[in-house]
Amino acid sequence: MRELLKFELRGGHALFLEEGDITRQAVDAIVNAANSSLMGGGGVDGAIHRAGGPAILEECKRVVARQGHLPTGQAVSTTGGRLKAAFVIHTVGPIWRGGMEGEAGLLASCYRETIHLADRLHLHTMAFPAISTGVYGYPVTQAAEIAFRATLEELAETRTVHEVRFVVFSDEAYRIFADAGRRYIEDRPSLAKIHKIQLSSPDEREP
Ligand code: ADP
Repeated sequence: MRELLKFELRGGHALFLEEGDITRQAVDAIVNAANSSLMGGGGVDGAIHRAGGPAILEECKRVVARQGHLPTGQAVSTTGGRLKAAFVIHTVGPIWRGGMEGEAGLLASCYRETIHLADRLHLHTMAFPAISTGVYGYPVTQAAEIAFRATLEELAETRTVHEVRFVVFSDEAYRIFADAGRRYIEDRPSLAKIHKIQLSSPDEREP
């Protein structure tokens, strides 16, 4: 039995937390934890390029030719190629260097800029991986706290984006994100209602 957490906000907006493979998400945009060169890489970046096919890299090359490398904390969109998602939004998370080099602000900026861009593209639904928590080494508890704060603040302001999913890649990351989300809402009970949703089959997504 799979479990999801739904953070239900006022105005019909919602943030979901689930464990899974982001490349399989049926949303308008999935977010790529890219590097500045936008030339692909390992981890979730490699998985997205493999699943979406060469059209994504071709568009990344055009973006870099036009505007150079993507600075940390910023976001650009490309096609989703063969993915279910029509768009990939690439953002560059900070490399963890101990926490005194602006990492928290840069990681929050990834979430904010990505949601802004999705809203400018008039998208409705989007999914994030746990940016910077792989090769870039960001401590997962701190990354989860930033992800919830930045996303819930932005979701209160969006015009078209009404559903955000955090799709994490392990049981442990799910547990850490769930705890961080619950703690955030405990301190702000009027912000969201939390629902635990049990899915009866692995492919069932919508409650
Ligand atoms: P970064 O360089 O930003 O740390 P990584 O790709 O190394 O990026 O890791 C970011 C997070 O994405 C990690 O928590 C990793 O476990 C997770 N991840 C890797 N592949 C997938 C996938 N297919 N779906 C969702 N998350 C993934």
